[in-house]
Amino acid sequence: MKVEIVQLGAAILRKNAKKISNFNAPKLIALIDDLLSTLENSKGVGIAAPQINHSYCVLIIASKPTTRYSNAPVMKPVVMINPSFKTLSDQQQKDWEGCLSIPGIRALVSRHQHILVNYQDRKGHVQQLELNGFIARIFQHEYDHLQGLVYLDRVENNKDIISETEFFKLTKDK
Ligand SMILES: [Zn+2]
Repeated sequence: MKVEIVQLGAAILRKNAKKISNFNAPKLIALIDDLLSTLENSKGVGIAAPQINHSYCVLIIASKPTTRYSNAPVMKPVVMINPSFKTLSDQQQKDWEGCLSIPGIRALVSRHQHILVNYQDRKGHVQQLELNGFIARIFQHEYDHLQGLVYLDRVENNKDIISETEFFKLTKDK
């Protein structure tokens, strides 16, 4: 069954997502499966549960080069439940982001370059992972979705927002 991706304007994208407490719930397993398959079909590099209409603290990072992100590094999909993070340096960088919930648009967003993420895996075990650069960016983008934020909220100048058509022209020759 095809899962629909919630689009900007839907109230669920502006809500604080609830923490997961029951790691054996069949609904959680189904949610993770739906997130993984939706991400695979969408050519995205990350997804958060509110984007498929479930207001829970679950996100997936699955970085690999796709037609949407041709320079993305390769990383096996990681399912993160109840994630949190802290910064490991003051270094921030601006780079382009897009969002499956906001089609047709890209914008420059400043993100922390070095972070330490704490999360629980599907079994509820606590895990820790250091993330840098583009992968750290994906995490912060998806983490925002759990707080009711979207990346456009972090754009510093409206001139940093462009159409995806123009974005692909910009990146085509690189
Ligand atoms: Zn997004």
